[in-house]
Amino acid sequence: MPRYKQLTVTCSCGLPLAIYYKGGKGRLRKMYFGRIKEDLCGVLLTQKGQPNGTEILCPNCQKRIGTVAMVLGHAAIKVNQGLIRE
Ligand SMILES: [Zn+2]
Repeated sequence: MPRYKQLTVTCSCGLPLAIYYKGGKGRLRKMYFGRIKEDLCGVLLTQKGQPNGTEILCPNCQKRIGTVAMVLGHAAIKVNQGLIRE
């Protein structure tokens, strides 16, 4: 049974974006839609059905939070690591 750490994902501008269950160690590189507990700004889960390079922008600073892509057969967000704080 893998252990997940609950973390709040925040944009570099300070806007909280999501509460996410992260598995494994290391930095947050991708976010699986199934592990997003709360979509705090309403910009993440609305992109779930379009896993083909859809860009997700921060609703506050308009910077690119990440890109929706297929990861191991699951729709996920490849996050822009320079912009995200855990
Ligand atoms: Zn922002």
